[in-house]
Amino acid sequence: MKLTFIGADHEVTGSCHLLEACGLNVLVDCGMEQGVNKFENAELPISYADVDYVLATHSHIDHVGMLPFIYAKGFRGQVLATRATTDLCEIMLKDCAHIQESEAEWKNRKAKRAGRQEEPPLYTMNDAEGVLEQFVPCDYGHTIRLAEGFEVRFTDVGHLLGSASIEIWMTEGGCSKKIVFSGDIGNEKKPLIRSPQYIFQADYVVMESTYGGRFHKSSGDHVEEFARIIDETLAIGGNVVIPAFAVGRTQEVLNYIRVIKERGLVKSRPDFEVYLDSPMAVEATAVFKENRMDCYNEETRALVKKGISPLSFPGLRLSVTSNDSIAINFDTKPKVIISAAGMCDAGRIRHHLKHNLWRPESTILFAGYQAVGTLGRSIIDGREEVKLFGEPIEVRARIEKIEGISGHADEAGLLKWVGSFMSDLQQVFVVHGDDEVCDQFAATVKDTFGIEAMAPYSGTSYDLEKGCFITVSRGIPIRRDTSEKTKKAAGVFARLLAAGDRLRKVIMHNEGGANKDLAKFADQIHSLCDKWDR
Ligand SMILES: [Zn+2]
Repeated sequence: MKLTFIGADHEVTGSCHLLEACGLNVLVDCGMEQGVNKFENAELPISYADVDYVLATHSHIDHVGMLPFIYAKGFRGQVLATRATTDLCEIMLKDCAHIQESEAEWKNRKAKRAGRQEEPPLYTMNDAEGVLEQFVPCDYGHTIRLAEGFEVRFTDVGHLLGSASIEIWMTEGGCSKKIVFSGDIGNEKKPLIRSPQYIFQADYVVMESTYGGRFHKSSGDHVEEFARIIDETLAIGGNVVIPAFAVGRTQEVLNYIRVIKERGLVKSRPDFEVYLDSPMAVEATAVFKENRMDCYNEETRALVKKGISPLSFPGLRLSVTSNDSIAINFDTKPKVIISAAGMCDAGRIRHHLKHNLWRPESTILFAGYQAVGTLGRSIIDGREEVKLFGEPIEVRARIEKIEGISGHADEAGLLKWVGSFMSDLQQVFVVHGDDEVCDQFAATVKDTFGIEAMAPYSGTSYDLEKGCFITVSRGIPIRRDTSEKTKKAAGVFARLLAAGDRLRKVIMHNEGGANKDLAKFADQIHSLCDKWDR
């Protein structure tokens, strides 16, 4: 009975853990690393062909994105996931394979011109289709036996349609242990889907810590906020452009708009039109609309029982082809446009930004997290001009952000989830958090509940039967290249650090100053920190 940590250790993406027990090699998640990573991931200590099962917690690419890759390398076992996750993986993995193929094609065109060797894509559409054949859809709450002494169960964790924590019972040589993998833990009282379900017993827990140390800003009534912004914008003849992730956030926004229409909250144009302009979002919405009574919250189930679809309303227009998309910008009627990508770095949303950012009567409405370095973030931070398709566009539209919408539990939610275990947990392993965040969250779990908790680095392995570490990895930092671009980025960051030093000096110079001035200075620093600390 051995657990090895492979990915999302002291990092937030690339989730992957190997469990060896009862003669089986089981991977829990097989995610792709995204964005900037700090540590090298350990190699899987067995060959991909020797993996018997993959258990997938949910369909986000950082949890399942490498499934086609391991298929290409010889994996032919089954992938167990909930029904909704299985259906969403079909969309997500094909989209990811398409991106891999087009990126490789683009790089290879450049390589060819430069006389360099061409590289194959990370994986192909065939690999994605191949691994999708290996999926076995499972129901929540059913115990599934994979081998003598090895059983698993999926429990709803309220992060995304189909998302689950995975409970695993193992008995080997008379010793029985239970381990629970949290998956990504959702927020309570989200639209459409259920809140996280709590689990009461386990010997070991492997849990995420994405929002460790952070608390969501208290959220107002999102329906009212959306309605007010839409009403004010449409009343003066502008468009409301909402960048949203195709899977999850888009469907939540559609649900809010359905309620707005039902209650007649947009007085200026009660029959306003809403364009959903993203083929992937249209496909994902169809998956959300299928009968998902096992995933829906009570409110949504009650609607469906009455024959009302939570994601349909009069005036909803689905735009799939690029001609549909182009036509939206020729139609001068004030409207709502929902499009992807959620952080505005790619996709059709960029066309809608190009056509609306310069218009003072339009609104760009953000309903989700915008990472540092993305176009979405720079618009929120007040950039006065952006470049889209090589053209400078002045930002004159109204920029709005709805706070408190998140698919992840904050620190209070994470503690509530782990605090629900009533039995004495032997050990909590904290994963899926930024480098310092996961260490701090492990310390918080230890302080709050008196449970052993630590955040392992990739390559660490643990004997679940004896309850001790076999290997403790220290984490291998990724060696950064020293190209000009990287050097420049390091230089800019050094400037920021120097600015921080100066701030501290200025604070010291103000010691003994008037209370009123000191309070004002402190308020200004806090508001600066609130702006950047995300
Ligand atoms: Zn996720």
